[in-house]
Amino acid sequence: METEDILRNKFREIGKEYGFDKVEAEFVAFKEFKIRWQRSYKWADFKVSDYLADAPPEVIEGLCNSLFSKITGDEEGYSEEMCRWMTAPEFSEYKQPVYLRRSRNLTRSAKGEAKDLESAYGRLEEAGLIEKDPSVHLTWTRESNVRKIGHCSVLMKVISISSVLDTDMIPDFVLDYCLYHELCHLIIGFDPAAGKHGEEFSKLEAKYSKREEAEEWLKRLSMYL
Ligand SMILES: [Zn+2]
Repeated sequence: METEDILRNKFREIGKEYGFDKVEAEFVAFKEFKIRWQRSYKWADFKVSDYLADAPPEVIEGLCNSLFSKITGDEEGYSEEMCRWMTAPEFSEYKQPVYLRRSRNLTRSAKGEAKDLESAYGRLEEAGLIEKDPSVHLTWTRESNVRKIGHCSVLMKVISISSVLDTDMIPDFVLDYCLYHELCHLIIGFDPAAGKHGEEFSKLEAKYSKREEAEEWLKRLSMYL
């Protein structure tokens, strides 16, 4: 059976147990991993990230259960099977190239015009702040976004830094700090239940000794650009 049939059947079957008569579910090629749904009292329609298209049936079943419990008022969170499957090395290994193809705003290169993200990464490693992980993809953005200076896809292990920082005007410690911030998201890992910048995150981020100075720099940068 095709995985899309498995998806549809599982959602219909489990939906029935939750009192939904009409359930639709299909895979959609979203760039980011996400699930969208619409529902009324008796029907529900799910658009599921196609990064799950090769997931084993028990992962689909777990997802289905957590979604129905969520839309009917319980906050169950993703199943253990699903989290395990999505954080296995194979997941990012196979999906990272797809994600990068879909991310049109990324140069897919760590080498910028003036700065090299690999060098920044090396400095953070030398400072003992991170451990080198060859599966992490570092890239610049094409557009120089000022509001969003960095982004990390924890699942895809892709870190992008805004090309607004790709200039000799920016001191290395500011760039390194921005990269470190995104790497902290990777170190903490996939945890949809936790807030994005929680207590654990702040503690980790505070290990960067010139953090406040770097924050000051970024504040000024956003004022003048
Ligand atoms: Zn962040």
